[in-house]
Amino acid sequence: QEPVPVLQVAGRVLADLRPQAEEKRLRVFAESPDGEQDLVAVGDEQRIAQVFTNLVGNALKFTDEGGVSVNLTRQNGHIHCLVRDTGCGIPPDELERVFDRFYQVEKVVTRKTGGTGLGLAIVKNIVEAHGGRIWIESQVGRGTEVHFTLPS
Ligand code: ADP
Repeated sequence: QEPVPVLQVAGRVLADLRPQAEEKRLRVFAESPDGEQDLVAVGDEQRIAQVFTNLVGNALKFTDEGGVSVNLTRQNGHIHCLVRDTGCGIPPDELERVFDRFYQVEKVVTRKTGGTGLGLAIVKNIVEAHGGRIWIESQVGRGTEVHFTLPS
């Protein structure tokens, strides 16, 4: 348990993933509202970085046009984090299952994106271990929003 400067952590993750974004000509950025650039969560900085790495990595993987953004806001006693992409989206009936271990929307043999289906299961574990909540909103063909909360 330590103070974690969330915008800086997200910014570092985005910098690491920038080559991947540039390869696909996708825009990436992280932001907080004016005057809220120093939002501090309480937790394990490395694990929180892992959450952003996974979510932004997925967002880049499943997006071909547009980009990926991270938005951080303060909301009644916690920090609300949103990773948004303009990618392929997830069908409504699969939304709950993407958090299951090894679950992937398409069969591995038919997809070009690889992966293990473990990322979101691990992310959910980390967020919940911090006492936070995670959920997904998505529209097929338009994009995906992954929301999670962290204690502050
Ligand atoms: P992996 O990415 O290794 O397959 P994850 O557990 O991170 O495993 O994700 C599970 C599945 O959820 C992915 O295979 C993909 O089908 C779907 N998914 C996750 N994130 C996104 C996203 N941002 N846009 C579209 N589909 C996604």
